[in-house]
This record gives sequence, structure tokens and C-alpha cells, in this order.
Amino acid sequence: MHPQARFVLRGPEILAPLSPAGGAPSIVPAPWPDLPLPEGAELFPLAVGAALRAGLEGAVLAVSAQTPAPEGHEWIPLRSFINAAREEHEWFPAARALALANWRAATRFCGRCGEPNGDKADESARLCPACGALQYPRLSPAVLALVRKGDRILLARNARAPVAGMQSILAGFVEPGETFEDCVIREVREEVGIEVANARYLGSQPWPFPDSFMVGFECDWVAGELAPDGVEIVEAGWYGPEVHPQLPGPGSLSRRLIERAFAAITDPPGRDRAATSTGRALAARLPRQPC
Ligand SMILES: [Zn+2]
Repeated sequence: MHPQARFVLRGPEILAPLSPAGGAPSIVPAPWPDLPLPEGAELFPLAVGAALRAGLEGAVLAVSAQTPAPEGHEWIPLRSFINAAREEHEWFPAARALALANWRAATRFCGRCGEPNGDKADESARLCPACGALQYPRLSPAVLALVRKGDRILLARNARAPVAGMQSILAGFVEPGETFEDCVIREVREEVGIEVANARYLGSQPWPFPDSFMVGFECDWVAGELAPDGVEIVEAGWYGPEVHPQLPGPGSLSRRLIERAFAAITDPPGRDRAATSTGRALAARLPRQPC
């Protein structure tokens, strides 16, 4: 038994108890059972040093792509786990495990001198024993841009969408030398040919596929007609809460931003609430969830 191997990962899949025949997949991560560790597996802590705090105890076991699931278990995509989770904090530690596993696989050797890397004892970092080069886990920041035009939002179909027919808000990686707000304007212009302004920060979310960090903004259409670039974006349109294409999975930040915008369109913040019930009037005075 390896009770510390709290998350067992095979690429972007996580080990879970076998789901009942015909039932929904389990969304409870399973530790490695009372068996020898598979050949080539790597065991590493979810956090060390000052980063070790409640919720981040235990270890991660990363196994090779050919490793079969032990009896009574199955591999499920971490994305399914995220989509089934009710609260973000339920899946953030597993997201950390996957991000660290991806990063470790990409940093087996020192990028400066080529020697096999070691681990720094007191923080999650690679330390080269030969030249002392230090490498921290990589995060690739990407903006999510929800564009508002009156009571409609922009939804677009990405050429690489994981589900056929699914549409979402625009996304793009931040480039060196630009701010998040610059990136929102550039990505929207590049992908659908319109001009936007007033980028407003709404929230962020780790997204370890393989090392993204999503930063969500809402912005306003200013000028231009939709003209998808045909490469990244193959279809785009303005949609409201009533009629819209299939949306991204419920665990994603993009889905939360879309639902937040639809709720604001259906029930605008400034609307007179005199006629609403006491409960709704109270809810209206509470600060709105950022996302
Ligand atoms: Zn080195």
C-alpha cells in the first residue's frame, strides 16, 4: 500500500474506483492499491516546504502510458473529474498534481548543461546538481475574453474544439511584452476581426492541459463585423440566454463566465427590484460573485 500516493496519474488521466456497470464514472481519485509500483513510475510530493498546507498533503504517482489500471480501478480523464466536481477546491489539488507531473516530465534534464535534474528540498523546483540552474513549474497564462454587445455575447467554434458543435468564448495565450488587457484586444481582433474595449477582470483558474493558467475578462464590442479567421475560429455569432449552441463543460471558467453574462442579461444589475420578493431583494444587495 502506498497511502501517500493520493493521486495516480497516467498522462491526463486519473486513477478512480471502477464505476458500476452502466453507471456514471467515479469522480473520486483512488490511491495506488497494495501492489508493487509499476516500472518507470515516479512518486513525488504534491507540495514541499512552505507550500505544504492543508489540502496539499500526500504524494503523486505518475505512471507510464502503457500502465493498466489495477483490478477494481479505471483511468478517467481529469477533465471528467473537473466537469463532475461541484466546487473548484475539490479539483484544484488534482490539477496541481497533473501540472507538476507535466512539468517534471518536461524537465528531466537541465536546460542549461544537459545533466539529469534533481529536486530542491524545500520548494517545488528542479535543481541541477552540476551547474546549479533552478527551474520552477511553468505556467502559461491565457486570457478568456467574453465579448458583450448589448444583450448578446460572442460565442465561437474553435477548429480544435474537443466536442463537435461546442462553442465558447475566445481564448489566447499572453505574449511577451503585453498586458492581459492588450492580449484581450489583440486576440479578439486576430480571431474574429472586431474591436473591443473596457476589459474587466472576472476571475482566474488553473487549467493543467498541460500548463495553462486561465484569466477571465469581459469586454465590450466597439466596432466591426464578425469575420472568423478560418484557421483557429471557424464559426462565430452573437447569442443570448434563450438560444445558443452547446457550451463548454460546467467545470470550466469559460462556462462560468458565460452563465454569469447570461444571468446579467436576464436580470440586469440595475433593474428596479421593488416588486421582487424579500429574498431576491436581499440577494441583490449582496456583492455579486466575481465569476
Ligand atoms: Zn545544469
